[in-house]
Amino acid sequence: MAKDTIEKPGWRTLPLGDVLPAGTAHEFKTGDWRSFRPVHDAAKCTNCLICWIYCPDSSVLVEAGSFKGFDLDHCKGCGICAAVCPPKVTAIAMIDEREARKGAQ
Ligand code: SF4
Ligand code: SF4
Repeated sequence: MAKDTIEKPGWRTLPLGDVLPAGTAHEFKTGDWRSFRPVHDAAKCTNCLICWIYCPDSSVLVEAGSFKGFDLDHCKGCGICAAVCPPKVTAIAMIDEREARKGAQ
């Protein structure tokens, strides 16, 4: 008995899909959500940039390979940067956002 063969289309015959832009909060100041604010101690910092790697909001700013500051317009105060800063260094402390704002007035 002859075996039926079905010609299956290859991937080259698939129609091209659309590319949709990913969502971004860049245009919104999501830092307003923050309850705690990261504060950096430059005297302790070794510029390992682990905080920059781990920040989920790309809110650790780096310039010329060195820690530059925090983008407080977008930092949500999750505290990951402080948690991953090496224990022997602890160059980032999380402080109460309301207290930080009072101090800035
Ligand atoms: S507190 Fe969270 S969002 Fe803010 S800089 Fe640190 S890791 Fe990024
Ligand atoms: S993780 Fe700590 S020591 Fe490393 S760059 Fe960030 S603040 Fe500095």
